[in-house]
Amino acid sequence: MSHESKTPLVLCLKCRYELSGFQLGDTCPECGNDINRLVDQTALSSNKAAVVISTGILSLLIFILTIVRFPSRNTMQWMSVAAVIGLIAIIYNVKVRDAIRTGRAPFSCLTPTKFGNVCGIIGFTLSTIMVVMLIVGSILISIFANNVNA
Ligand SMILES: [Zn+2]
Repeated sequence: MSHESKTPLVLCLKCRYELSGFQLGDTCPECGNDINRLVDQTALSSNKAAVVISTGILSLLIFILTIVRFPSRNTMQWMSVAAVIGLIAIIYNVKVRDAIRTGRAPFSCLTPTKFGNVCGIIGFTLSTIMVVMLIVGSILISIFANNVNA
């Protein structure tokens, strides 16, 4: 671990010049913008990475718990919840990857974000497949029931 990676990354709100070491009231040396607000971009992106990890794991967890308890009256609802939460992980993963690529997030965010994203993709995909299968299954059952009655 290098010492530099612990320094918070603060960027100029106007030109995105790195302002680490500057203070409120200073002027951005790149564009002359008054520094009236310091936003730690690293902390913001770390929060987004935390969203990817927590929603990704949660999505997969809800899917697994719903499968274990299958069939249940609430299978459809929980699968939908898992799919939506998984989708949030996937969306925030794109944001964090973009932040890492443009230098607004530390590279150390990459591995945990990847892990959360993989969980989110699995949770989203399997839950969506289950929802589709339940819908198709109930349609087939109603068609079959109608044919039997006819
Ligand atoms: Zn600037």
